[in-house]
Amino acid sequence: MVFINENYLKLAAGYLFPEIARRVNEYVDANPAVAGRIIRCGIGDVTEPIVPAVLAAMHDAIDDLGSHETFRGYPPPTGYDFLRQAIAEHDYRNRGISISDDEIFVSDGSKGDCGSLLEILGVGNRVAVTDPVYPVYVDTNVMVGNTDEPLDGGGYEGLVTMEGNEANGFVPNPPESPVDLVYLCFPNNPTGSTIDHPRLQAWVDWALENDALIVYDAAYVNFIRDPDLPRSIFEIPGADKCAIETRSFSKNGGFTGIRCGYTVVPKTLEGRTRDGRSVPLHQLWSRRWSTRSNGVSWPVQRGAEALYSAEGLEQTSMLIDHYMTNATLLRGGCEAMGLTVHGGENAPYVWVKCPPGQDSWGMFDRLLKEAQIVTTPGAGFGRCGEGFFRISAFNSRANVEEVVARMKTLV
Ligand SMILES: *Cc1c(COP(=O)(O)O)cnc(C)c1O
Repeated sequence: MVFINENYLKLAAGYLFPEIARRVNEYVDANPAVAGRIIRCGIGDVTEPIVPAVLAAMHDAIDDLGSHETFRGYPPPTGYDFLRQAIAEHDYRNRGISISDDEIFVSDGSKGDCGSLLEILGVGNRVAVTDPVYPVYVDTNVMVGNTDEPLDGGGYEGLVTMEGNEANGFVPNPPESPVDLVYLCFPNNPTGSTIDHPRLQAWVDWALENDALIVYDAAYVNFIRDPDLPRSIFEIPGADKCAIETRSFSKNGGFTGIRCGYTVVPKTLEGRTRDGRSVPLHQLWSRRWSTRSNGVSWPVQRGAEALYSAEGLEQTSMLIDHYMTNATLLRGGCEAMGLTVHGGENAPYVWVKCPPGQDSWGMFDRLLKEAQIVTTPGAGFGRCGEGFFRISAFNSRANVEEVVARMKTLV
């Protein structure tokens, strides 16, 4: 019989979303009359349709496949030049950041990239994550064997966690203990927090001093409204020697179903062998892609390119305005309930403190039973998430207005 990767057996059960579904179903079964009133603000999936500029580009690209002259077979494994160039120009060079086209690696989304990056890093790296955290960073490290067994109440033996709380604005400081690899996500899922230049500079300085690699997940960068906040870790001097940035078209372009994102690996970034030699990570990541993948399809890359056209930029900016107006309305609804609210100003997530004496599952049950609103309990994102809940701004305006109206009746 074949041997398995026993690291998978260490994974704590995927508790959060199944448990939410279980509680919602149980409530609906017991109260069928209100089933139609349920509004889901728990998921992090987009709700609005793909913008016209992208649809048109994808339609044309499909037609290309129907004739000999324009047919395309295998794409280049790391992305077509037209898309890598559009990304490097719009997201980096136009902002004064020097990133070359071939430092952009186009993929089918950044969740996958976060996990695949571990293929080019050695097993046994000491890893640090924030708490609360996007669970993908944790579970992918468990799977490759970078942790030991799960701890009671959340987390894993051997995994360093950096506490996010109200005092630090959910922007943890670098760990005291030595670490090789750190995951940062700003604007943050689930807390909606952002990081400013001085604090991101402090992280980069720490990484350079400690020879650590930062994986910077910028999936929500397009939701930043404040012009003073960094849009990329590569705005910070020195980051090209200590950071990888992942980005996704899922949230700004509504590509959660289409699937496209990218990772930036600067050529100046190095890792080392056990015997102390330095090796460019770019070289390993290129090799990984050409061996493991045949790239992203022609219609999808044409669609992603259209996000950077004049119409595409205009249309996606309206889409983001839609979600961010939702976030503002939801913040107002929670404030009207007398709750302390974080996030929702430069991110599509509102992170709300539970009232005194109520834990995050207690608050979840109350909002479900008294207002038929489904939220995400903070405890599902780590120990430090206890006492908070997340409301997603990815929704229709009508649903958000209804949620806010119901919240006002709960006061
Ligand atoms: C949604 C999200 C992503 C994007 O994932 P895709 O695989 O590109 O859809 C990445 N990181 C975080 C924290 C997210 O919430």
